Amino acid sequence: MFQPAISVPDHLLDQPGRWFLFDERNRLLLAEGRPPVSVEAPPGTTDLHVLGHDAGGPIRAGRLPAGYDVDRPDGLDGLGEGDAIVIDLRRAYAVLDEEEWILAGRAAQILTWDVDHRFCSRCGTGTEPHHRDRARSCGDCGHLAFPRLTPAVITLVERDDGRALLAWGRQFPGRFYSALAGFVEPGETLEQCVSREIREEVGIEVEAIRYFGSQPWPFPHSLMIGFNASYAGGELVLQEEEIVEADWFRHDELPPVPTGRMSIAGWLIEDWVARQTGRT
Ligand SMILES: [Zn+2]
Repeated sequence: MFQPAISVPDHLLDQPGRWFLFDERNRLLLAEGRPPVSVEAPPGTTDLHVLGHDAGGPIRAGRLPAGYDVDRPDGLDGLGEGDAIVIDLRRAYAVLDEEEWILAGRAAQILTWDVDHRFCSRCGTGTEPHHRDRARSCGDCGHLAFPRLTPAVITLVERDDGRALLAWGRQFPGRFYSALAGFVEPGETLEQCVSREIREEVGIEVEAIRYFGSQPWPFPHSLMIGFNASYAGGELVLQEEEIVEADWFRHDELPPVPTGRMSIAGWLIEDWVARQTGRT
């Protein structure tokens, strides 16, 4: 089981472990389809972080040098010529197992936070890694910057006639429909955020807001918190800047929707379909 840590315990120091290495465009390096295994950091690697360890040894993250040529992976043990690729984290879901993909996301979030906090946001002085915690500290004013997480709720609203609310968001890369999602604001509970987002985006009221599950979403630093909710009243009035189209759908007449394990939107919709068809 993965154990998070910010340094490697002594008894694991001589184990090769795994490296989650990203280029400057946040693409993950894979060697023969897996995160590289190496005792030493590849030459020129920066932003070294220990993520933790598991049965396979230490798990580390780092940033490949600018212009790193994947056809000449010098210093990466066990890597034959032409075997290394860099791949977008979303695409890596298809080749990594789920646990490895989650670790890759953890690595990407920590590296992104690190590069985004080189200077103190309060006084502008250059920051240094904190001696004990996963933080960057300002030697001038003492301000600490911890890894940033942005919580967002995603909610599948159901009606008691067997239909669920799905919306085509303007931000989506193509025409598909999903559960409604939005970022949590300061001072707000998750339940208040669910109600507000749905009211703002489609104009209806919900009740019986029930926790469903959560998922780290490293694009670039979200935590998705999933809910089910029941329709309580109102007519659909779409917020046009956010929503192209939204409607109530039956499980056997679904528009294009996310499927599979990659996103919590897919889990929410598949769970609902399974309940509608009596399979759970
Ligand atoms: Zn400062």
